[in-house]
Amino acid sequence: MVLQLRLLGTGTPTPLLERAGACYLIECGDEVLLFDCGPGAVRRLLQAGVAPTQVTHLFLTHLHYDHCNDYSYLVLSRWDQGAGRIPDLAVCGPLGVGRMTSLLFDEDGVWGPDLEGRTRHGGSQAIYQRRGGVLPRQRPQPRVTEVQGGASVPGSDWQVTVAETRHCQPHLHSVAYRLDESDGSVVFSGDTAPTPRLTELARGADVLLHMCHFLNGEEGDSRMSDCCSGHLDAAQTAKDAGVCTLVLVHLTEQLLAPGLRERMCAEAAEVFDGTIIVGEDLLGVPLTTGPVVPAR
Ligand SMILES: [Zn+2]
Repeated sequence: MVLQLRLLGTGTPTPLLERAGACYLIECGDEVLLFDCGPGAVRRLLQAGVAPTQVTHLFLTHLHYDHCNDYSYLVLSRWDQGAGRIPDLAVCGPLGVGRMTSLLFDEDGVWGPDLEGRTRHGGSQAIYQRRGGVLPRQRPQPRVTEVQGGASVPGSDWQVTVAETRHCQPHLHSVAYRLDESDGSVVFSGDTAPTPRLTELARGADVLLHMCHFLNGEEGDSRMSDCCSGHLDAAQTAKDAGVCTLVLVHLTEQLLAPGLRERMCAEAAEVFDGTIIVGEDLLGVPLTTGPVVPAR
């Protein structure tokens, strides 16, 4: 099966037109997996040519809004357009994602009035039936699994493994994911400071998507470096884990100023001698790097 990886959102909590919140797309045959679903993720999904109804699985690394703000939009738009013809979304996330889902979609939840109207009002029922739906209309019920470090989630032709990261504990649970499929392996760091748990998870992977929130050496506040990673942290983890390709994501605009981007890559390359890619929204990332093709 051909596994395809595309970056949908490579930004941070800072709103930027060119960088959506964290979101990464894996297409694996008929299954479409999203890793995180930050602000703007659903729009980027459409730009990538994928409809929300095609998404089968969502993996959330943690519940910071820049990683999950489009969760309800994905669930609602997928449910609305799917008109009862597709299974509910399978969702994996850290402790807390079950409560968030209940607070959003239960009868007395945030979207209670919307869902009441769309399932009970005649006009909404008419649209639903035009889309192929059959009454009575059911509410969305994402199939949520809360995961912790050491868990593994089996798919049809793939497996996802979980490791706890080092981010905002004890206030917020956070995990990283590794996807293994016969075509290759991809690791999503989520947000984290360096931790041997992530290094172990990423051991021998083809691609490591790693947070890069600052330049090491320029960030003097240990409160930041205790919960997030810089370019050299990402490079060191990539080296220690022996991955082939490191993709820097979760990038601030300050890091990408002319000259700094080049410095970031050059310094990271002194630590990690594999392929280094600076993430961009909608960039397709090859699982293996091919030979250099001469210019024509
Ligand atoms: Zn975070």
